[in-house]
Amino acid sequence: MEKSNNSPFEGWGLGKLERPLVIAGPCSAESEEQVVETATQLKTLGIEVFRAGIWKPRTRPNQFEGVGISGLEWMKRVQKEVGMKVSTEVGNVKHVYDSLRHGVDIIWIGARTSADPFAMQEIADALRGVDIPVLVKNPVNPDLNLWIGAIERIAAAGIRRVGAIHRGFSTYDTTRYRNIPQWQVPIELKQKMPEIPMICDPSHMGGKRELIQELSQKALDLNYDGLMIESHFYPAIAKSDSEQQITPSELGTILNNLIIRDPSNDNPLLMLTLEELRHKIDVCDEKLIKILNDRMTIAEIIGSYKKENKITILQSARWKEVVEKIVEKGKKYKLSEEMINTIFKAIHQESINRQTTIMNKS
Ligand code: PEP
Ligand code: MN
Repeated sequence: MEKSNNSPFEGWGLGKLERPLVIAGPCSAESEEQVVETATQLKTLGIEVFRAGIWKPRTRPNQFEGVGISGLEWMKRVQKEVGMKVSTEVGNVKHVYDSLRHGVDIIWIGARTSADPFAMQEIADALRGVDIPVLVKNPVNPDLNLWIGAIERIAAAGIRRVGAIHRGFSTYDTTRYRNIPQWQVPIELKQKMPEIPMICDPSHMGGKRELIQELSQKALDLNYDGLMIESHFYPAIAKSDSEQQITPSELGTILNNLIIRDPSNDNPLLMLTLEELRHKIDVCDEKLIKILNDRMTIAEIIGSYKKENKITILQSARWKEVVEKIVEKGKKYKLSEEMINTIFKAIHQESINRQTTIMNKS
């Protein structure tokens, strides 16, 4: 991996300023040996920031809930003897105070906690006046404003160095991911808060080590600023998230395979070609809007007929037929069924809204 040197982490005191920032370490701190040995191996890869969960937010009771404060002593050895910055997750005020007392360099807020505004406010209040970098994971549910709100609470407490971690979103469905990425959510966050660095956590997103390479590459291609990857010196014996952890040496291979692309390029010819292609996209978008408008106008006319003849707006059989036909057509053009379904659900909803307005007009 050829790193590039424009980093949004300037002023974060993180050593070398290269993009991407890589944070790595085990899901949980389990033993002094595991922590120090894993960190030592990670350091040889040039990784500057170590992660380890000290308190683990487990879904069911009686699962391994972390080693607690003793783990913070092991983290001190990582700072002093290995020479890395250390980071851990805080989920309540006690975790904040314990971490600060033990000199943790960076704290992060987990996905279950960032979904809870009460917890977020208490943590933010506990951090008031403290100058520590804080990373806020996306909430478990894909609610952009909830994520923004969590970041705002931390920033409003006077924390200057705030970043976001995208780890994907829970779903009841079985998918190839443990947490579905929904890349549009962090992209929108980045548009609304461009100053917030964005880190991807492909470990919790994928839930299995085989997906880490492709998810990391995808994040970098979307211009993410960093990666947080779970790494354990012996993943098979890990007490949590064993299937998604990789050895430091496997992490080294993944990082070596990553291609770092820059958001812009000095080559004027290339930039011109890109400009032209973007212009073509703009033209397509114009056409799309015009066609959508034509379609809605027809839907309104249909609405008037339905009103005059007292028939219902929703005709499920007709709608099912429309979607099936369009999905089939889409396949011919290699348009994914998922996209066609999303777009046409939205179009259908808008048509229904328009027709409802017409029906209710006196
Ligand atoms: C973790 O980072 O170990 C963790 C518990 O992550 P998340 O909050 O994303 O589930
Ligand atoms: Mn984990």
